[in-house]
Amino acid sequence: LRANFSVIQKETGFVNGLITVLHDITEQEKIDEERREFVANVSHELRTPLTTMRSYLEALADGAWKDESLAPNFLNVTQNETERMIRLVNDLLRLSKLDSKDYRLSKNWINLTEFFNHIIDRFEMTKAEHITFDRNIPKSPIYVDIDEDKITQVLYNIISNAIKYSPEGGQIAFRVKENNEIVEISISDQGVGIPKNNLDKIFERFYRVDKARSRNLGGTGLGLAIAKEMVEAHNGKIWAESEEGKGTTIFFTLPSEQEQEDDWS
Ligand code: ADP
Repeated sequence: LRANFSVIQKETGFVNGLITVLHDITEQEKIDEERREFVANVSHELRTPLTTMRSYLEALADGAWKDESLAPNFLNVTQNETERMIRLVNDLLRLSKLDSKDYRLSKNWINLTEFFNHIIDRFEMTKAEHITFDRNIPKSPIYVDIDEDKITQVLYNIISNAIKYSPEGGQIAFRVKENNEIVEISISDQGVGIPKNNLDKIFERFYRVDKARSRNLGGTGLGLAIAKEMVEAHNGKIWAESEEGKGTTIFFTLPSEQEQEDDWS
């Protein structure tokens, strides 16, 4: 805390007042520190794929392009790195939009159970065969007032992680529960799990339990940070439960309205 004192003095020289301005510099310093750290992280995340690409391109330019056993592989690496940079920049743009003051949700009342099933269907078509899906979603409609694009993004980020971190033959369970006008959505996998003391940190920007593994799987380290901001913008909460070696469940809530009992018929 910093205090600025100003003495109010009359022309006669008598002191008749004192103004004290208290600045919470610790808060400002924290913001500055976070910003510096964020910029350093972004620079690092971009530099890694760029230096990889540079060395592969140099090797190609030095003659590897003529070697049919090397060239396709080297080009493949540069392509993958480019894709990852595009994902990273897109994630950064999403975050910067969320951070901006004039950020608005474009909400509509929709039936969450139908919406969730559609999203799972999309993943079901593209997922690897060895992963199975288990849906535990009520048949009756549950209405939520949401920005569909944003909640699609939330579900996409969580489900992609569940698939990425699932073992051969793993099952992913999708659940929806409604209680007192709060709907709780959860996605469980049987993957590597997350150590207890890291459970809250996975929602921080660029935090990864295992950096190398996340990079190899094409991660940006921003997926859950984006999900958290989007859920909180809907007045919901997001959290994780996990057991190492057993699996992880990501939960989030949204305010809801269950369909009225059929008084009209
Ligand atoms: P990433 O792009 O690295 O997946 P996220 O923000 O989506 O970034 O997740 C942050 C970190 O949380 C991941 O790097 C991983 O360590 C951990 N994590 C997220 N989801 C899971 C999961 N289902 N199982 C195990 N670890 C997970």
